[in-house]
Amino acid sequence: MEFNDINRVVSDSFFYTQSLRRSLHEIPEVGLFLPKTQKFVCAELEKFGLEVESNDESSGLSLVINPEGHETLVFRCDMDALPVLEPEGLSYRSKHDGNMHACGHDLHTAILITTAKILSENKPNKKIVLAFQSGEEFDRGAIPLLKHKNLTEVTSAQSFALHTHANLPSGTLNWKNDSFMGFGDWFEIHVTGLGGHGASPHKANTPITPAANIALAINSITDLLANPWPTQVATVTEILSGNSVNVIPPDARLRGTIRGKDFKSIDYVRNKLAEITASTQERYQVKVDLTIKEGYPAVINSARSNEFAIDCLAKLPEKITINELPETSMVIEDYSYFLQKWPGAMFYLGCQLEGSEFFNHSEKVKFNEDAMKSGVKFFLALAYS
Ligand SMILES: [Zn+2]
Ligand SMILES: [Zn+2]
Repeated sequence: MEFNDINRVVSDSFFYTQSLRRSLHEIPEVGLFLPKTQKFVCAELEKFGLEVESNDESSGLSLVINPEGHETLVFRCDMDALPVLEPEGLSYRSKHDGNMHACGHDLHTAILITTAKILSENKPNKKIVLAFQSGEEFDRGAIPLLKHKNLTEVTSAQSFALHTHANLPSGTLNWKNDSFMGFGDWFEIHVTGLGGHGASPHKANTPITPAANIALAINSITDLLANPWPTQVATVTEILSGNSVNVIPPDARLRGTIRGKDFKSIDYVRNKLAEITASTQERYQVKVDLTIKEGYPAVINSARSNEFAIDCLAKLPEKITINELPETSMVIEDYSYFLQKWPGAMFYLGCQLEGSEFFNHSEKVKFNEDAMKSGVKFFLALAYS
């Protein structure tokens, strides 16, 4: 296939890409094991005569196109969804109530399956390894996937991945050198007071007021409304306590996430959390236990890989808009484990739908499916360059 044919082939395949995305959108699964998704993706890949590798540790899949190729590129996507209830509306709404593809991984997967189809029909000169990952959101699914033989036997390569971004212009590709995404941890805070009768709070010690105080204090660490590109973030995403209108519960639990642009900023937030929990314990005379679980390493893009990708994209006859990001993103991604193995880069694929302002992970998020064309062109431009 000629390089100049990429635009036409991608446009001709778009109906297929869209139907893949919609089929995947209907069957969102969360975590490391995604049986229906894995079966669907595997069946599509096998239609193109591709041999697909899997293992027992996750639903990750991998395959190799043109093993004799003179240089190797690894393309990775993720396939897992989120525990979010999707509102009514779409004709292809989630059939798994309580799960939703709210992070756009259905688009990532549809893009990479289409890429596999085109590459299998028009063999590139390079060796291309395609990796379909599960368990990206919380489960470090990159680690079991990287144990596949298809991946362990790759010594020298560059790797590339895309992530949808619901607030960047549709069809654009967005890059940044070095720290593309920052560091992130998950935290859990347990407040233990003393339960009692709702009519006699003086005979109890409610955990709810200190828990609420902690949530407000954490919220004040960052002022998100003032800056769409903050350098540190602390967010409470869950509060649990009590189950009655007249019983003061003995304990409360808060969970959430902290993010930082670099070691310094994540350390700042870690210390702030420790200060807030210690001062609340003292002030309310409750027991406050803070546990911080280390999240994913930062996504560090290689400047050379960015340059290589941008050069490849520049050769496309129909140009894709490429923008440099102003700041490190506070999203975290375990694609960082791929980047620890080979140099490479992740790009944001702008998927903004006109009139929609919601971001990834919101139950109201909407992605512009047209953007998937830029996604497939991205991988093909690299493969055929
Ligand atoms: Zn996500
Ligand atoms: Zn994601």
